[in-house]
Amino acid sequence: MTGSVLGVEPGEFRRELARAAEWVADYLDAVPTRPVTRSRPPHQREWLVASPLRDEGQAWTDLLGFVDREVAPYPCGNGHPAFFGWINSPPAPAAVVAELLAVALNPSNGMGEHALMDIERGVVSALAELAGLPSGTGGVLTSGGSTANLLCLATARTWFLRGHTGADFDRAHSTLVCYQAGDTHMSIARAARTIGLGGHRIRSVPMTADWRMDPDALRRAIAADRAGGLRPFCVVSTAGSTATGAVDPIADISGICREQGLWHHVDGAFGGLGAAHPDLAEHYAGIDLVDSLTVDPHKTLNVPIGCGAALVTHPERLRDAFDHDASYLTRESAWPWLSDYTLELTRPAGRALTTWAVLHQLGRTGVTALIDGYLNLTRQLRRQITDHPDLQLVAGGPWPVTCFTHRTTDSVSLARRIQDAGRAYLGTVEIGGRTTLRASICNHLTTEEDLHTLLDEIHTHAKHLADR
Ligand SMILES: *Cc1c(COP(=O)(O)O)cnc(C)c1O
Repeated sequence: MTGSVLGVEPGEFRRELARAAEWVADYLDAVPTRPVTRSRPPHQREWLVASPLRDEGQAWTDLLGFVDREVAPYPCGNGHPAFFGWINSPPAPAAVVAELLAVALNPSNGMGEHALMDIERGVVSALAELAGLPSGTGGVLTSGGSTANLLCLATARTWFLRGHTGADFDRAHSTLVCYQAGDTHMSIARAARTIGLGGHRIRSVPMTADWRMDPDALRRAIAADRAGGLRPFCVVSTAGSTATGAVDPIADISGICREQGLWHHVDGAFGGLGAAHPDLAEHYAGIDLVDSLTVDPHKTLNVPIGCGAALVTHPERLRDAFDHDASYLTRESAWPWLSDYTLELTRPAGRALTTWAVLHQLGRTGVTALIDGYLNLTRQLRRQITDHPDLQLVAGGPWPVTCFTHRTTDSVSLARRIQDAGRAYLGTVEIGGRTTLRASICNHLTTEEDLHTLLDEIHTHAKHLADR
């Protein structure tokens, strides 16, 4: 017994750590043989939701058994290779180890001068390089793409209104407008609302037939808003749309933003690293001209949740938006703290070390190979959809999202049945006023076998639904 109420007996700590390590390895080995998802019966949910707090503390060594019995059997699904639902991946094994090490070190990546801050700086540069952004690009890791989008929109606003103060700032602020494509991720509208722009200040620009923002329509929308006395300040394009995997015409939009003095933010939460793959690179011409880019290592790179990144080509603009001054936080100016570039002060270091571990293991060629795996499987899936008389391909951009329908069954009922059966997981999406099945691939473990399982499930359950 140590003197601390949280202290544990050293021998017992080592034993529990070793047991946890064995459990983690066994669990990850077994994921493909377990149901993809399984929901907890309602009464058991209520039991979990009830407060864990009792008058007296309990044995801390109960934790592993608790997770094994009560948590692990009811997974979210994203660890499973036959999960084709949301764009969420399993944790890369190297990153699972990295997370544990980072938790033991436990520095705050917001302040101080310690190794993990430098590791985060290096990871940010590496992501920027992979994304094809110019050298000198900076930024920070975030909890995910939504937070990164918020940081970048706030930065765009601060940059655009530079020089405005007091009542003049308020007046100018009340006329700001930003632009997105029709199917842009909802986190953009949420970020815009959070920085004080009502929904009526967010324009949805029409898309061309391939589900990409129409640059001519963008140009017309900007002109109409200017004519109405408003201040267009930012265009958000998407690289790898959540709905269809489409990549907006980045070079055209960058050109318009430059010409019009607008900020160009690219939401690349899924497809921000596309420039790193030769088959995708053509869609990324002009990426070096954007002002900011969101990438999500916890999607494309299979880094554990949550890790996104806000990358800004002029990092001092990010700093202008978030810099803070407080007498209890004095620092050397040569190495600004990462908290100077974001909302968070005390910040986790785990996402820096997990991303470092994955990038270190992959190298540039490994990143390309990882994306290559998703693209190969996607080509096979699309071929099997096109070849089957009961299936119809509706949309599928350069990124591995495929939207399709089944001839005899409505997509929502079919997806729900497949989800409940637990062998594979498939979602739905509404595009162009039509609900379709939606399969996304973002898992280094997914194989052709899993595609077969998915298609098998589709045909089996479609038949059951039709026979009813
Ligand atoms: C997933 C996603 C987001 C949101 O990212 P989170 O990490 O879930 O917060 C934003 N934009 C796009 C295009 C996405 O695919």
